Amino acid sequence: MEIDKFSNWLIHRTGKCLVAGPCSVESEEQILGTAKELAPCDVTLLRGGIWKPRTRPGSFEGIGEKGLNWLKAAGRTTSLPVATEVAIPAHVEQCLNANIDVLWIGARTTTSPIAVQAIADSLAGIDIPVMIKNPMNPDLGLWIGAIERVRRAGIKRVVAVHRGFSTHIRHKYRNQPLWSIPLELRSRMPEIPILCDPSHICGTQQYIASISEAALEAGLDGLMIESHWRPESALSDPGQQLSPAQFAELVGQVVRNRNLGVASRNRESDNLWREIDEIDQDIGALLSTRVSILRKIEADGADGSRISGKTWANICATRLVAAVAKQLLGTGESKLGECDSGCTQTEARSIETRKWLLRSKTSPCGDSVTTERPV
Ligand code: PEP
Ligand code: MN
Repeated sequence: MEIDKFSNWLIHRTGKCLVAGPCSVESEEQILGTAKELAPCDVTLLRGGIWKPRTRPGSFEGIGEKGLNWLKAAGRTTSLPVATEVAIPAHVEQCLNANIDVLWIGARTTTSPIAVQAIADSLAGIDIPVMIKNPMNPDLGLWIGAIERVRRAGIKRVVAVHRGFSTHIRHKYRNQPLWSIPLELRSRMPEIPILCDPSHICGTQQYIASISEAALEAGLDGLMIESHWRPESALSDPGQQLSPAQFAELVGQVVRNRNLGVASRNRESDNLWREIDEIDQDIGALLSTRVSILRKIEADGADGSRISGKTWANICATRLVAAVAKQLLGTGESKLGECDSGCTQTEARSIETRKWLLRSKTSPCGDSVTTERPV
């Protein structure tokens, strides 16, 4: 499938594509005021949400169609192309009528292949760039599927946007970056430019600079950053939006400095190591959740804190099966035997327990156990 080189249409003299603008278009004054302050900061594309997919009803759900003209007018005044999110074919039609320059598909929409296909069908025969955010959940296949659907509709200028992933683990980020996913997308579809959206990864202003840096170190093609002229009074995502002055500082620090040669050596492995750091933090968070659950069990009373031999054996056996399935542990007894040499007494004891679990159907305290040999 033919695809236009990103550098021909949206790359800036900084060498990166910089998309900036408020989470939502709120008023004519707000989008114009924000655009005027952002325009001198090397912005390549002005963003602004018109229809906002909010988790709960009753919060600000976007200004709707009338905001398209405000967005376009702000773009004309500042000589910037403009972009907004579309979630249904009617949005596509309204954007085309308002001469919006670039569309994007949001994370919640990418999660639904039927919704993406409906948008793709409405784009058939139209020459407009489309940015596709990753789905909410860490599923590379869904992201690739959405890109394929839009490309099959004949769209040649397609951009992927990495905005982090929602997982069950509580984390310092609103959405975990899981760098290996965008890096894998790049190796599977090297022709697709990838932007990073640190605003939705971070959820607060705090880590936006370090995530932006990591994205550029990883060789991504640019950034999409939420910026509002009065972030504290924004009607959506107030905590994560930068003022235009903060945005300018970020571009100076992270983008321009990089071009001056402050770049790192081995970007891909740096980011993979960053991901390992994050996984280690998650392991710590999970262990602490586990400990607090155990404390609750203990608080239920003396009996609650005691575990029967049968329960304990079942816990060990199921964890062992899971470990073998994930190839964290060898499957054969010979392998377990090999591990015996040179290990500490505690390790040796636990290896003895594993061996016992593999062989026996009786727990050390004599209860019968319903475990199968997990090989
Ligand atoms: C947004 O860009 O404002 C937005 C809603 O993003 P996401 O789809 O990544 O949550
Ligand atoms: Mn937002």
